[in-house]
Amino acid sequence: MFADITLPIPFDSFTYLVPSDLETRVMRGCRVVVPLGKNKIYTGVVLQTHNNAPQGVEIKAIMEVLDDHPVVNEQQFKFWQWIAHYYLCPLGDVMKAGLPGAMKPTDERALKESTRKRKGSKATLPPSSISPLNPLNPAQQKAMDEIEASFFDKNVTLLHGVTSSGKTEIYIHLIDKCLQQGKQVLYLLPEIALTTQITERLQCFFGDKMGVYHSKFTDAQRLEIYQRQASDQPYQLILGVRSSIFLPFQNLGLVIVDEEHEQSYKQQEPSPRYHARNAAIMLAHMFKAKTLMGTATPSFEVYHWARKDRYGYVQLTQRYRDMQLPTIEVVDTKEAKRKRLMKGLFSPRLIEVMRAALERKEQIILFQNRRGFSSFIECKTCGWVPRCPHCDVTLTLHKKTGTLTCHYCGYTTRIPEKCPACEENKFVDIGTGTEKVEEQITQLFEGATTLRMDLDTATTRTQFERIISDFSAHKADILIGTQMVTKGLDFDRVSVVGILDADTMLNLPDFRSYERAFQTLSQVAGRAGRNNTAGHVILQTRSADSDIIRQITQADYWQMFYTQMTERQMFHYPPFRRLIYVFLRHKDDKLLDHLADEMATRLRAVFGERVLGPDRPPVARIHSLYIRKMMLKIESHANTDNVRQHLLAIQQQMLAMPIAKNLNIYYDVDPL
Ligand code: ADP
Ligand code: ZN
Ligand code: ZN
Repeated sequence: MFADITLPIPFDSFTYLVPSDLETRVMRGCRVVVPLGKNKIYTGVVLQTHNNAPQGVEIKAIMEVLDDHPVVNEQQFKFWQWIAHYYLCPLGDVMKAGLPGAMKPTDERALKESTRKRKGSKATLPPSSISPLNPLNPAQQKAMDEIEASFFDKNVTLLHGVTSSGKTEIYIHLIDKCLQQGKQVLYLLPEIALTTQITERLQCFFGDKMGVYHSKFTDAQRLEIYQRQASDQPYQLILGVRSSIFLPFQNLGLVIVDEEHEQSYKQQEPSPRYHARNAAIMLAHMFKAKTLMGTATPSFEVYHWARKDRYGYVQLTQRYRDMQLPTIEVVDTKEAKRKRLMKGLFSPRLIEVMRAALERKEQIILFQNRRGFSSFIECKTCGWVPRCPHCDVTLTLHKKTGTLTCHYCGYTTRIPEKCPACEENKFVDIGTGTEKVEEQITQLFEGATTLRMDLDTATTRTQFERIISDFSAHKADILIGTQMVTKGLDFDRVSVVGILDADTMLNLPDFRSYERAFQTLSQVAGRAGRNNTAGHVILQTRSADSDIIRQITQADYWQMFYTQMTERQMFHYPPFRRLIYVFLRHKDDKLLDHLADEMATRLRAVFGERVLGPDRPPVARIHSLYIRKMMLKIESHANTDNVRQHLLAIQQQMLAMPIAKNLNIYYDVDPL
């Protein structure tokens, strides 16, 4: 007997011999230990058993079976297969993402450990919980009724509700109903938004029926949740980040995707490069369950399908208790600069508003898109700029530590004593980061205390939560942050939000830059004036009279959508077309040029003008490997299976060429 086994490496599967004494135990969905290559061993999952001996290859035998019962169920297999097909990646990559680390040990001690743990662990009975404490107000009740009505003929519905309209409150009521019908709920949140704030809020209704799942959990914690979900007493509600779509579910009834527009739902690295929102819709579909997506600023993809009636659409236009949306005041920094009125990054108006708030003992959030002190440094004499030796990017200055860091590979070095090109020792900072903002605040606002939240200060979840709880407890007056400060945080005493420089976001060379700027800036603005304080947002920009700035200040999502969609249609961008990026990686730049041209020719023979490139991406070398990118623009109604088969055939032809020995080809489907 033989078995096809998928391993946590970038291949679909390998065939192994099943020793006769293991024949009764090797079953689809069970984990086995197998040798690979000269001296590696892996934990794999059995896909199927059969009697077809593979021809012309040496066949190795399964060493051990780890499970008495399947630990991957049929629904999961179906879901894994869908991910592998749709996102054009090997099944092994999906298996690797789909099982917690502790279930795929690679050395023998860990393997023994894992079998022992499995036998020892037992799920505990969830005690019953209280039902929701807050009744919905009439607007919320109406939205809830509309959502339920839409589920009669729609599988997916968009809840488009301004910040603080009480969307979370509606989710709680919907979850409660679903649990009462004995069905499971998956509540997805972007990693960074999954804070104690939201966890505690839900825990207080759903108690022990709820399990939380995020990537900063230890292997053991994740293993425990996985096993519990596979047991006969699973959590009825999972509050989790994108990877929780891979947990075993038994009778899923509802999926909630909160902050649906969030980019971080898309996994960039490593493969599988899936979009958790879209994959969750598929997951729900497999269970005949419903999906509710919520946001104040929908992604174009979702809003488009809601308008086309493929998705249901429910709107909430008022904040809870009729609180005003914050007023957004635009400050023209071009003008202020010309009149030499700027104090560093701060306009006189922003300083005035901040001082008044500080006097009233209110809190302030300052948004700066970039971390570090400035983007990079430059030699004042010759213009030399320090770059990463492994990647094609400039190094970011971090002044406190006196270091320059590559934000792609982590390479860090000290600021040089003198310029290696001209031996002079004067450097200037170019661009602005959060650290520089912090330094200027100490100069401008005497006595004001600050907290900084970015990838440098909030590397761990504990640090992140610490900053949030310290700011909530008013241990600092001003919170300075990147994107991170926008994610669904709810602070009572924040009355002012300052956006220091809207232009960096607007000027990104990306067809989504306006959509993103609108989403991010509206979210940041929404942090002002929740609960009892009226909000005031100061938005500093050099393009004060542009359409996009007007759309942001007037919260005119529709106008922004309409204008941008016209361009998207004209230039064949999503949601009118599906994009697939084809990436080639190789350590030899010249050879890569040749291979990329070759592949482009083959792609054009099939896909014609839908192929663009090859190009060097903005960062054309990472970790010492050169990169080329091609873009495919496929009609949104095109058959995805056909596209996939063509692409994989071309990939096979390429990799069969002797010169392409170390070529790496991979895809990004629906890239963000
Ligand atoms: P959103 O998710 O749309 O940003 P939330 O659900 O967080 O809005 O609601 C904003 C605030 O209003 C929260 O502090 C929440 O507790 C409160 N709130 C919303 N709806 C109700 C309700 N029906 N009863 C009591 N408080 C509510
Ligand atoms: Zn120099
Ligand atoms: Zn680097």
